[in-house]
Amino acid sequence: MPKIFKKKDNKEAEEKASRARRVRFISRLRGMKDILPDEYKYWNLIIKKATELSRSYGFKRMDTPVLENLELYERSSGRSSDIVVKEMFSFIDKNGEKIALRPEATPGIIRSYIEHGMFNLPQPVKLFWLGPVFRHDKPQAGRFRQFSQFNLESIGDASPVADAELIAITYYFFRELQLEVMTQINSVGCASCRKEYLVKLENFYKERGRRTKLCNDCKKRLAKNPLRLLDCKEKQCQEIAADAPQIVDSLCEDCRNHFIKVLEYLDELNIPYNLNPTLVRGLDYYNRTVFEIWPSSAEATEGKPEEQSRQNALGGGGRYDGLVEYMGGRPTPACGFGIGIERVILKIKEKNIPLKDEEKGDLFLAHLGDPARRKIMVLFEELRKNGFKVRQAFTKDNLKSQLELANQAGVKYTLILGQKEIMDGTILIRDMESGIQEIVDYKKVVAEIEKRLGSPSKKI
Ligand SMILES: [Zn+2]
Ligand SMILES: [Zn+2]
Repeated sequence: MPKIFKKKDNKEAEEKASRARRVRFISRLRGMKDILPDEYKYWNLIIKKATELSRSYGFKRMDTPVLENLELYERSSGRSSDIVVKEMFSFIDKNGEKIALRPEATPGIIRSYIEHGMFNLPQPVKLFWLGPVFRHDKPQAGRFRQFSQFNLESIGDASPVADAELIAITYYFFRELQLEVMTQINSVGCASCRKEYLVKLENFYKERGRRTKLCNDCKKRLAKNPLRLLDCKEKQCQEIAADAPQIVDSLCEDCRNHFIKVLEYLDELNIPYNLNPTLVRGLDYYNRTVFEIWPSSAEATEGKPEEQSRQNALGGGGRYDGLVEYMGGRPTPACGFGIGIERVILKIKEKNIPLKDEEKGDLFLAHLGDPARRKIMVLFEELRKNGFKVRQAFTKDNLKSQLELANQAGVKYTLILGQKEIMDGTILIRDMESGIQEIVDYKKVVAEIEKRLGSPSKKI
């Protein structure tokens, strides 16, 4: 066989292989999700609410990189915490540096505070942060490896007012989203009073063979981080924890006074809370106030409301007075919280809370023929600049399909421009409910629309 044919055969085989390569579909990674347009209305609502509340309480938005030095999280979160040991997405980059996808927001925010000399600003520096975090958790219903958080951090203020203000904001946030929650609150003391408490706690767990009844994780925790035994999710560990000595009984005078003040402010603001002696939060850096926001038990799934609520905490936070110094900054008191956005969305969906459809428009621009299309493209921009929510389908030719889209967009009026109207210098205004059409002077169309819809607030 001549060489040339052989070559062709090869070429055909190559093309076939390349076609096969082309059609192989690549799906998203396990534990990851897409946010589709229908879902986005929930995100818009939450982002809007979070932004408004943060602004009114004087928190300014900032962001940090998704990638940070692995050491940042190892140091801040504590090497023994679940987040660092089990769940971090980390890798070695092309320069051989150890990198991590942020598993939480606070360490990056603190790094940024130190790195940009924010301690020179008037204190406290109040920061609002919203973005994705990553944890290589076992994927399960409603839990993802990439999820988003809304965080507020108040850095540079030791006063119990700062703690109470944050708790109040979380309460208002959920109340305005029409979700019933119960704030769980506790104090984990400071380094000195906690030391005494930990001795009591260890002694308690050593008594009468309690250790043997603990789950395997807790047996390990007993030596490394006994405080974590209190919030273990295993039933047998929770039963033992219920009898354990309570940290509030061991607080030093300063920690005790601080905690009482926080509770007094909450009482003053009429914010409901539940004193929860087993709440310690999973991170090493907390001191004094810690809190979590649980769906109120009436909303928890039947069975074990307490346990359900604990696992479905919508958010939490607390004070971390030692963290800034520990990360290499000056000694700086601070507190903050994080709220899981996906979990909040799940709750809104469960409760069927009606949402305003932001996609809806005031009016629709329809055209018939290419000259009309060109004119309404100009008119569209004029109306949009005047603040109207205008919808259109420039790419469509058929009037009927444009009117269908206008109906779907829920507009009150549709403006229709065709060849005849161009000749006459007019445009049709169609009332979508009654179907009545009026002819108006093209030059006066904006005024005519304003007459019907009212003057929109000029946003642009
Ligand atoms: Zn103390
Ligand atoms: Zn346990």
